[in-house]
Amino acid sequence: MKYFSLNDKNHKVSFETAVLNGLGPNKGLYFPEEIKKLPKQFFQQISSLTPTEIATQAIGQFVEGEIPPAELAGIIENTLDFDFPVKPVEEQVGVLELFHGPTLAFKDVGAKFMAGTLGYFIKKGNIPGVTVLVATSGDTGGAVARGFLKVEGIEVVILYPKGKVSEIQEKQLTTLGENITALEVDGSFDACQSMVKMAFLDSEIQQHRKLTSANSINVARWLPQMFYYFLAYEQVKNRDQKLAFSVPSGNFGNICAGLLAKEMGLPIDHFVAANNENNVVTRFLQTQKYEPTASVQTISNAMDVGDPSNFIRILELFSNNFEDLKSHLSSFSYTDDQTRGIIKKVYEDTGYLMDPHGAVGYLGLKEFLRKHKDYYGIFLETAHPVKFLETIEDVIGKKIPLPPDIEALKHREKKAVQISDYEDLKNFLLK
Ligand SMILES: *Cc1c(COP(=O)(O)O)cnc(C)c1O
Repeated sequence: MKYFSLNDKNHKVSFETAVLNGLGPNKGLYFPEEIKKLPKQFFQQISSLTPTEIATQAIGQFVEGEIPPAELAGIIENTLDFDFPVKPVEEQVGVLELFHGPTLAFKDVGAKFMAGTLGYFIKKGNIPGVTVLVATSGDTGGAVARGFLKVEGIEVVILYPKGKVSEIQEKQLTTLGENITALEVDGSFDACQSMVKMAFLDSEIQQHRKLTSANSINVARWLPQMFYYFLAYEQVKNRDQKLAFSVPSGNFGNICAGLLAKEMGLPIDHFVAANNENNVVTRFLQTQKYEPTASVQTISNAMDVGDPSNFIRILELFSNNFEDLKSHLSSFSYTDDQTRGIIKKVYEDTGYLMDPHGAVGYLGLKEFLRKHKDYYGIFLETAHPVKFLETIEDVIGKKIPLPPDIEALKHREKKAVQISDYEDLKNFLLK
């Protein structure tokens, strides 16, 4: 399978090159040249397959000829070594829990799959070692650190803003050691991100070591997110109702992978992109005008994105046909007060405790179901509520217990290199 750059349709590369480069020329996102439908039989027999078999068949066409089937199955087996349960919340509403991985957020899947594929390409010997360089505002750093831990040939350097990530998130990035280094930046997340961008453009650094990024722009992090939808479908397929998924969205990588799965034939009837007050896509679907803004800070902070990078991939999936897009995708936006209110209400009514991101997803789903009574709806719980401990305890007015892994993490020693400007980063990378 070849991938073309959305900035230049004549620029085509292999999966391996797309993974290694991250982005095409002039920051174009890579997109698969062809999307084949999966055979009907696959969906009929899906319940006789293991999660690894389902995922291996689903992603097969996108890596064909570049990763041998046995190798691919091994990478996927390791990626999916936790559960993805769909649980009932109300009569017409289920929740797909994506937080049972090592860092308690759905980004574990993309990070582990990317680590596996990159590790394979290095082992095969086509490329020397690489350095994965990422800036994080919280969740990405932990997932990448954990996913890439001890992968041969890969060094990981994570920049995070001092004092601006939660205690749990900081421990997840700073206590692993081995091939993972955390750089604690005396500055904002934006400062971290701009330093990372400068490093990618710095030829002196590029001569010294091969750099790659690990955000959802990278096809190896974006594509495996389709697995969630296949695994959820398998659990609810015997309901003879239409099926809708509501996805709390920030950079729109997750929902775009769901739309891709639908394009491959997975029987999903509708998608809801649930937004916090960063609602450029909600507005786009109303006005057909795409007007990015600076992001505003909310309690669902992983969705504080003013100009979602993957939205262009969604437009491509629908060949830029606005009406077609609108018939498959709805979008709604909610304030922090609405989010807090619904966390409390659902907890009191049903006993189910949502995190702020999942709560935005729930709100979007309910709004869609009000006008579409013939649907069964599933919202995605993208992180465990303990990741947002203060907000959640404040909203429900009581303490929640920490899972044992997280409790243990609190006692591990933080190790981070202090840096304050680009010069410091450059010196570190040239060492
Ligand atoms: C990253 C993240 C999101 C947003 O996902 P996108 O793929 O960027 O739309 C939502 N919830 C949580 C908890 C996240 O970490």
